[in-house]
Amino acid sequence: MATERKEIKQPKPLPAPNSDFYELVETLPAEEVAVVKQVRTFMETKVAPIITKYWVDDAFPFELLPAIKELNIGGVGMEGYGCRGGSELLFGLVAMEMSRFDSSIATFFGVHNGLAMGSIYLGGSEEQKQKWLPPMARWEKIGCFGLTEPLVGSGASGGLTTTAKRDGDTWIINGQKKWIGNSPWCDISIIWARDVADNQVKGFIVENKTTPGFSVEKIQNKIALKVVQNGLITMDNCRIPEENRLQVDKSFRDTAHVLKMTRYLVAWEATGCAMGAYENALKYCQERLQFGKPIASFQLVQDLLAKMLANITASQCMVVRTAQLQAEGKLTDAHAAIAKAFTTAKCRETVAWARELLGGNGIAADYNVGRFFADSEALYSYEGTYQIQNLIIGKAITGFSAFV
Ligand SMILES: Cc1cc2nc3c(=O)[nH]c(=O)nc-3n(C[C@H](O)[C@H](O)[C@H](O)COP(=O)(O)OP(=O)(O)OC[C@H]3O[C@@H](n4cnc5c(N)ncnc54)[C@H](O)[C@@H]3O)c2cc1C
Repeated sequence: MATERKEIKQPKPLPAPNSDFYELVETLPAEEVAVVKQVRTFMETKVAPIITKYWVDDAFPFELLPAIKELNIGGVGMEGYGCRGGSELLFGLVAMEMSRFDSSIATFFGVHNGLAMGSIYLGGSEEQKQKWLPPMARWEKIGCFGLTEPLVGSGASGGLTTTAKRDGDTWIINGQKKWIGNSPWCDISIIWARDVADNQVKGFIVENKTTPGFSVEKIQNKIALKVVQNGLITMDNCRIPEENRLQVDKSFRDTAHVLKMTRYLVAWEATGCAMGAYENALKYCQERLQFGKPIASFQLVQDLLAKMLANITASQCMVVRTAQLQAEGKLTDAHAAIAKAFTTAKCRETVAWARELLGGNGIAADYNVGRFFADSEALYSYEGTYQIQNLIIGKAITGFSAFV
């Protein structure tokens, strides 16, 4: 009698969560792909295992600094002066890859490499670049960027109250700067102050640890980007040598050049933040059973996951184009603003869906989604709020400035 052989079906392996759906990283030259992969390995093996504890404790992981130095990415996107160099796309993808694991580490990188080094790279004289950029590229001197004040945030272009008064070969700076990332412990600050003589905003390189009258108070009890240490800087008759005034910068227009570059970097960070939340949520949905089935098999769950991936993919396409425009020297303030506004809004939507998909566990920091959910709030508001980005876009497309 013939026996019927029943074939035992092995369950198909589930697809690994992958938020680079259009394979953006693969569009880089091989040498730059290797850099992104190196950053990914660092984030995966060194940062991911410890970052939630630091986030909960409101502390910065100084233990990671030696490994960050070894990555050799200081000054990525900048040529010469000991900088890593590389394309605009590489710069953005490094920020995205960091934020995919942790937006605080990406912000630490963005403040030092983008805002602080970028201010010197764009606004410093040849001598200033030679002096400051090499130690910053080696992470021997870490920088911060002081623009926002306790009473002046969105209105910084016309409203800065920090003053700079020339006195012979020095400037006397008085005022306060609020929210300044890295400032409680870093080495140098780029401080933006209004020259009392011509009323123009000027940039100064201030040495935090050796300048009398310079003090920093750490901002406590943040609910986002808790790993980044933000400070309230007070400057009481700080004397800064003229040789530390950024020599190329003449007005707030020059500050805005730095902000244009770093705003589109925040768009990369927001894209990475959404990717991290999506990947962790998808993995959770594949494993979590309800009604006897993985929740990833439910139609309404798949609807959210598909919308999240679409948000991410649209954001990726947008930031890639901004990097191309920047590389071609064509990136405008409105180009950077629309990328920052759109990607941070989509990030906020995506991380909220990720949190929702984890149910109650989405509320606990331990499940690796709540942190992204909270951090997206800071990305949405810093370096110009959503409304301010839209006013920049509105001015460019209508020809009317709605700024008061
Ligand atoms: C975690 C974190 C890190 C930061 N890091 C730094 C840093 O390193 N360096 C630095 O200089 N700053 C930093 N900032 C400051 C940040 O850039 C400001 O918080 C931001 O620009 C908004 O300014 P504000 O907080 O004073 O808000 P406000 O300007 O007071 O705005 C409050 C609200 O009013 C709205 N609003 C204001 N004006 C208008 C208008 N004309 N039309 C419509 N709506 C308007 C805003 O959109 C916002 O919703 C950081 C902030 C955070 C939270």
